[in-house]
Amino acid sequence: MPTSSYFTILSNSCLVLLFQAFFISIAASSDRHTPENHIRTRAGAPFKVALFADLHFGENAWTDWGPKQDVNSIKVMSSVLDTETPDFVVYLGDVVTANNIPIANASLYWDQAISPTRSRGIPWASVFGNHDDAPFEWPMEWFAASGIPQLVCPVLNSVSLSGEECSFRGTSRLELMKNEMDNNVLSLSKSGPQDLWPGISNYVLQVLSKEKPHTPLVYLYFLDSGGGTYPEVISTAQADWFKRISEEINPDSRVPELIFWHIPSKAYKKVAPKFRIHKPCVGSINKEKVAAQEAEMGIMKILVKRPSVKAVFVGHNHGLDWCCPYGQLWLCFARHTGYGGYGNWARGSRILEINERPFSISSWIRMEDGSVHSEVILS
Ligand SMILES: [Zn+2]
Repeated sequence: MPTSSYFTILSNSCLVLLFQAFFISIAASSDRHTPENHIRTRAGAPFKVALFADLHFGENAWTDWGPKQDVNSIKVMSSVLDTETPDFVVYLGDVVTANNIPIANASLYWDQAISPTRSRGIPWASVFGNHDDAPFEWPMEWFAASGIPQLVCPVLNSVSLSGEECSFRGTSRLELMKNEMDNNVLSLSKSGPQDLWPGISNYVLQVLSKEKPHTPLVYLYFLDSGGGTYPEVISTAQADWFKRISEEINPDSRVPELIFWHIPSKAYKKVAPKFRIHKPCVGSINKEKVAAQEAEMGIMKILVKRPSVKAVFVGHNHGLDWCCPYGQLWLCFARHTGYGGYGNWARGSRILEINERPFSISSWIRMEDGSVHSEVILS
């Protein structure tokens, strides 16, 4: 359904007007592209989301093993998508390792990373991690006798780069997001309000149920936790934005809310299991310390005060996959999905399943080999 008719149908309450105003302002800020702001559930079926975290496409793109890793990451995603058949996918940041991509536009690698989801006709949304717009790091070995290798620029969507374009100048968050949105009708990602820059992936989506089309089943909030070209932090402006928007669209906290960003907040350190993962935490690997954001600017205080916020999902730490309670909400890691990035822990994907009646949110981890573990009820 086009966005305009969608707005017309829902235009008879003050709440909806506020909602419209918000989404129209978002649409305006993302220039000519106005993607859908909602996802619909299938009749009689639970709503299922797969989280793809830390794919790190384009790692050491000039070597043989770099591109091989990307092929393996595509196999992981394909296996998860075919086993779980989710309704929606969240790309939870570090989609590419931009500091390793010696070409002008990292979107070519970004595009490879989203291709398994796109080719199956599944809609998705993405947030930025600390590697997605990181500046290129010139390998020291390029300055030794062997010299700078011949750069191979990937060709995708019949776009091939040549000359100046096939040399590195970096790809900004705005460019990455614009390329994703402009070239993919299934992408529900957005460039958020300009007053939240340099954070870009700040937006909210509603999941509408088939049975009650005017009442959202759940709200999905996406926040940019920084890193790469600016500090790893969720700003006070982002926290205030979340507070304002959530109070506008969900004033009585009646609709459950789920939150997605890349880098764990400091609160994750407080609940982290010391050695083995034990109750109330649920998970299978606890192999490293939480690498938290650099500062806490207020988002967690706001989240814990909202009874509708059920869980936060992050990536970033490839060796952690647990969920632990924090006040009335859950703090969860996804599962390292990509062959790119540090660590050799087996790859997988955290799955979320939202049931409408009775309402419940459950989660588990689906591994590349098809096995399942770490089932947990989050609401
Ligand atoms: Zn990562």
